[in-house]
Amino acid sequence: MSTSELAAEVDLWSRPGGPFDPALLAAHDEAETFPAQACAALDQWGLPDHYVPGRHGGRLERLDEVHGLLRAVAARDLTVAVAHGKTFLGTASVWAAGDSAAAASLARHVLAGEPVAWGLTEPDRGSDLLSGEVTAVRDGSGWRLSGRKWPVNNATRGRFVCVLARTDPGGGPRGFSVFLVDKDATPRGTVRHLPKVPTHGIRSADISGVEFRDARVPAHALIGTVGGGLELVLKSLQLTRVACVALSLGAGDHALEIGRDFLAERRLHGRRLADLPHARAVAGRAVARQLLAEAVSFTAARAAHEVPEELSTVSAITKALVPTLVQGQLRLVGELLGARSFLTGVDGYGGFAKIERDHQVVGIFDGSTWVNRSALATSLPALRPGRRPRPGTGRPVREWLRADHEPAALDLSRLGVMPRRDSVLGALGELVAALTAEPPGGADRLAARLLDAHGDLGTRIAALRPAAGLPATATMRLAERYEWCFAGAAALAVWAANPQAHDRPAWREGLWLRGALALALEGLGTRPPEANAVFDELGRLLLSDDGARVSLFGTPVEVSA
Ligand SMILES: Cc1cc2nc3c(=O)[nH]c(=O)nc-3n(C[C@H](O)[C@H](O)[C@H](O)COP(=O)(O)OP(=O)(O)OC[C@H]3O[C@@H](n4cnc5c(N)ncnc54)[C@H](O)[C@@H]3O)c2cc1C
Repeated sequence: MSTSELAAEVDLWSRPGGPFDPALLAAHDEAETFPAQACAALDQWGLPDHYVPGRHGGRLERLDEVHGLLRAVAARDLTVAVAHGKTFLGTASVWAAGDSAAAASLARHVLAGEPVAWGLTEPDRGSDLLSGEVTAVRDGSGWRLSGRKWPVNNATRGRFVCVLARTDPGGGPRGFSVFLVDKDATPRGTVRHLPKVPTHGIRSADISGVEFRDARVPAHALIGTVGGGLELVLKSLQLTRVACVALSLGAGDHALEIGRDFLAERRLHGRRLADLPHARAVAGRAVARQLLAEAVSFTAARAAHEVPEELSTVSAITKALVPTLVQGQLRLVGELLGARSFLTGVDGYGGFAKIERDHQVVGIFDGSTWVNRSALATSLPALRPGRRPRPGTGRPVREWLRADHEPAALDLSRLGVMPRRDSVLGALGELVAALTAEPPGGADRLAARLLDAHGDLGTRIAALRPAAGLPATATMRLAERYEWCFAGAAALAVWAANPQAHDRPAWREGLWLRGALALALEGLGTRPPEANAVFDELGRLLLSDDGARVSLFGTPVEVSA
């Protein structure tokens, strides 16, 4: 099976009467009932196999493949992707902890289609994991859990829930542990479901909670070590944050498809909306946001394999930036659609409002944009541009970003929580120099400006005074600038790594690269004079025959048979 086969299958299922029929999914959304038919179709197709590592009998080998699959589902319905893909998030800690009997057993259940929830958040404490009050106390050879996790995706449907619980009453970084709770195996009455919460988007998903009342779990429910829970969760989040942004890419694909149809069909003042220059430039800007988001996501998915030691930084940047880029993309498409972005019942275009509502959650869960930016901000002194980086041991970035490169096997034992170096942004000087030698359509001028901005960022970071506690606003702003520099470097690296693609429509004359660099420069506060022309070109591309699927490599990464 392949990613494109799943995409084709989802298209078939989207026909009237199928499990992905937009009318059926809209009805579930309206009634806030779970999209069980769509999830069952994905189970039958074998999507859960891709959430389980190969060594446990599944087909999870490459993060870029998981990306392609989740993106294909999200491109038809984001709620279904969130509801089904949650199992990937719920199981990540178990895989990251290494081989264990628990991992082998969980694998069997996931392969059989059992959903798994991930309980980190608590009602009175959201992102602040160190303040969690769900406790686990020893009880003979096992443990007893008490407290509430809420809101949690699939908390009610999932037979298993992976829970972060306080095991040392004093808390602290070594005061928490992870437990995989099999709700069916807990004594009756000790686990209670909290009711489904009405939500603004993903209304049909099972967003509920779970309460433990002295719920006894056996010794083997402990995942990893006692006291190692926080570190394990922080490492797992690096994987899940990279996976999550596939949801954004899928939402972006869906929105561009709707926007493209509208531009071509809508007639105003005696001509097509597509012939209105400003509308075309707005559409092109939306395309640039999507392609820059894709370049960053692709880089992150490959970084998980090649430079896992750097993933704490790369995943934070990716989770902060990609949902933001796509939310902005949706706003632009919404502007193009005008009234049709707001009216839910207008044939064909009514789905847009649901995408926009659904997508808002991607920037909230699994660490909000600010939480990720804040993590990056505290790492800035270690990552400062110009600082002599620790020597890297791996291959150069332009090698591992080749579309046809076979990534190194995922080695989760190499994940770390302290930033060491940034191979992507660290290669910026080299990437810009390579571009100058062979400049595509003026992209070299944009790249040179990015290099200047990067130098300036180094100076500003060097001027930061060490401060304890959460980062100040000025430091958060620098982190945001770092994200834009990283995004520009990722785009340049993807470009340099893939000369075989340079004659593809979106790549000719460096088209998408120029759009991506123009956006990165805008994010850094300089509006390049060529931006409008580039966005107009990208708008034309969207409207051409080649614009039916806007993506860097045309087809999603293939999953090996
Ligand atoms: C639909 C949905 C599904 C969810 N599913 C799950 C799930 O399956 N499992 C789960 O565990 N949780 C889940 N959550 C919870 C989600 O992860 C939390 O909403 C998130 O952790 C943030 O918590 P909070 O909303 O309480 O915000 P708070 O943590 O209270 O944050 C409030 C504000 O402060 C900002 N902030 C917080 N910390 C920092 C910081 N360090 N630096 C800068 N700004 C900061 C936040 O960005 C936010 O703007 C879900 C939430 C929703 C809405």
